[in-house]
Amino acid sequence: MKKNTKASTVKKSAQRGGLAPDRIDAILKALDEAYPAARCALTHSSPWELLVATILSAQCTDARVNMVTPELFRRFPTPAPMAKATLPELEALIRTTGFFHNKAKSIQGAARKIVAEFGGQVPQTLAELTTIPGAARKTANVVLGVSFGKAEGVVVDTHVFRIARRLGLAKGDTPQKVEQELMRILPQSRWIDFSHQLIHHGRQICDARKPKCDRCNLEQLCHSKDKTWQS
Ligand code: SF4
Repeated sequence: MKKNTKASTVKKSAQRGGLAPDRIDAILKALDEAYPAARCALTHSSPWELLVATILSAQCTDARVNMVTPELFRRFPTPAPMAKATLPELEALIRTTGFFHNKAKSIQGAARKIVAEFGGQVPQTLAELTTIPGAARKTANVVLGVSFGKAEGVVVDTHVFRIARRLGLAKGDTPQKVEQELMRILPQSRWIDFSHQLIHHGRQICDARKPKCDRCNLEQLCHSKDKTWQS
């Protein structure tokens, strides 16, 4: 009996990337306590709108994206009308989000691809979504998780990348490597919420330059070298 318990503990630890399961669970519990209702901050009312908003959010704040999308979606509420929009029309509407030439090409290309190959509906698999112009893996994961409740991966944006490494949950030096590590150690049922929670934590507490460690409820679980306060 004792032997089985030990074997199952070792197996459980190995399944979670060699990190102590208790520590991971404690981090998840602390995130639930701090951010019980963390949600995507991009305003949207359909998978199509979320896809476009996520493409526009590259190198731009969600607040800025939320300022331009109401008019954009009023003019082009579905892929069909946007597929017919001209690039200058789109550029004028999204200019303030930065990189607007490329973003206009991406959202026009996304609309045309969805109309031509997916019957005008945003597809619901990672493989299909990542064929859409402007939708790399991170964008696809956002749409799958938020719009369809499907956890095929973990969204790793700049906040998730930084904080997962600070907490010692991942060591990878690229978002792709960090995502793979997180997928190994986190229960799949937590993949979607975990990203939202870390994004909120990054915006409110775990700042890139000066983390507010004295206000962080994960402080005792964090051994990051750039902590600004130690209990
Ligand atoms: S203790 Fe500091 S560095 Fe660690 S997660 Fe909290 S805010 Fe970030």
